[in-house]
This record gives sequence, C-alpha cells and structure tokens, in this order.
Amino acid sequence: MPGRLTGKVALITGATGGIGSATADLFAREGACLVIADLDAEALRALAVRLEAKGADVLAARLDVSSSESWDEAIELTRRRFGRLDVLVNVAGIVDWPGIEGTTRESWDRVIAVNQTGTWLGMKAAMPLLRASGNASIVNTSSVLGLVGSGAAAAYQASKGAVRLLTKTAAVEYATQGVRVNSVHPGVIATPMIQDLLDEQGDGQPDIVRTPMRRAGRPAEIAPAMLFLAGDESSFVTGTELVVDGGLTAY
Ligand code: NAP
Repeated sequence: MPGRLTGKVALITGATGGIGSATADLFAREGACLVIADLDAEALRALAVRLEAKGADVLAARLDVSSSESWDEAIELTRRRFGRLDVLVNVAGIVDWPGIEGTTRESWDRVIAVNQTGTWLGMKAAMPLLRASGNASIVNTSSVLGLVGSGAAAAYQASKGAVRLLTKTAAVEYATQGVRVNSVHPGVIATPMIQDLLDEQGDGQPDIVRTPMRRAGRPAEIAPAMLFLAGDESSFVTGTELVVDGGLTAY
C-alpha cells in the first residue's frame, strides 16, 4: 500500500535531533525519499544507516543552515541525486535561555542566524526546486515561544516569532505557485535541546511542564503534525500555525 508521502522527496534539517529524527522516521515509513541534513556528519551516517535498514532511499547532506553556501551545496546534491524536491522541513534550531539583559550580542546573533536567517535561507535556496515540483510544501518549525512570551530566551523568542510571520508571508507569496508554507509550534518536548532544563527541575513535576496534560511531549508526537502539513491531506492549508503543545497555550 502506498504511503502518505510516496513519490515525494523531502529534505529535513536538524534531522539527527529529537524532533528531526522522529520526523525522518515517520516520513520514511510513509514512503518519502529523504534528504537528511544536519551539522554532525557522524550522526547523519548513523541515521542514514537506520533509515536505509527500513528500506528508505536516503541522501545524507552535511548542512549549516546559517550559511547560504552550505544551502546551495545541499540543494545541488539533492537535485543531482533525486532530480526534484517536494517537501522542505526546517527543523534545525538552537536555544539560549537568558532574557533581555542577560543575552550577549554574540548569542543573539547566533540564535537569529540559525533559527531565523536559516529558515529564510532554506526557503530561498529550495524554492526553485519546490516550484518546479508543482505540488510542494514547506513546514517551518517555530514554537509556542513564537506565540506567547516566557520572560526568558529573548533571542529564541524573537527568532521563533519571526519564523511564524516569515511563514505567513511566504505562504501568501507562493500560494498560486504550487508551494504551501506552514509552521508547527511545539510546546515542551523532551529532546536533547531542553534535557538540561528538564533535569534541572529535579524530581516530580518540572515547573516548565505547566501544560494541562502535566507532561512533556515526545518527538514522535510532533512528527505527525509535520506529516500532515507535508502531505497532500493538507492541500488547502497554507499560512497556518499548527500548535502541538498539550494545551500549554490554551490557558
Ligand atoms: P535538538 O534535538 O537539539 O535538535 C536540533 C538539531 O538542529 C540538532 O541536530 C542540531 O545539531 C541541529 N542544528 C543546530 N544548529 C544547526 C545548524 N546551524 N545547521 C544545521 N543544523 C543545526 O532539538 P529539538 O528539540 O529536536 O528541536 C528541533 C526544533 O524544534 C528546533 O527548531 C526547536 O527550536 C524547535 N522546538 C523545540 C521544542 C522543545 O521543547 N524541544 C519546543 C518548541 C520548538 P547539533 O546537535 O549537532 O548541534
């Protein structure tokens, strides 16, 4: 039986991370050909071996999302290997927790470069192939911290708010060109990115997990949102924000 992404080529950034690898696993199960992109070549190789063992067609591409040259190389590799690109999932991201006064200029620039500029660079570099697909989808990863304030993580909040509106303006720009653009907004998800924070809270219920569900989410609970927006079931959905947060922003 064909999968929900059979016949599509999908590029996932931050592919070896928590949410990225869960998304790659699900996309492989749903029949996509995958371009897995991340910083760490060793981790990429390990992920490629795991996905190929499940029968997926995989290209591993080392990519620094904050570099336009790196994006051009990854897209060229994709074009040479698969000749097309139908789905771009921008997952790569970094966090820094200080607020307005605690954030250094260096950290501000790095977080903006990866989360915000990296998302724009990815859409820009991939757009010619995505337009040529005629039925393409971009899924950008924002956050609940792109929707509401936390009193911390100044650079991260700014970058994730920017990803939300970058997504909407791209959705409008490409609405008649066969490219849909949407954002996913995870709540607190147990991944390497926030493991220190979860551990710091000690035993019992971490303060950060103030969700009505009283738990952190799992990466595998974000991947289906990526899948819905990547595939044809969301063919009339563009410019939307899909919040997957256990009710955190429902308060
Ligand atoms: P993660 O496990 O740390 O994954 C992030 C991945 O991005 C890592 O593989 C990391 O590689 C990669 N990366 C970092 N800088 C990069 C760069 N310049 N170029 C390419 N790849 C780069 O974190 P995650 O929780 O899965 O986060 C995935 C996305 O979800 C992020 O955009 C994050 O902001 C968002 N998000 C996460 C949560 C959460 O609670 N976890 C909540 C809301 C939104 P290295 O490990 O080699 O640095």
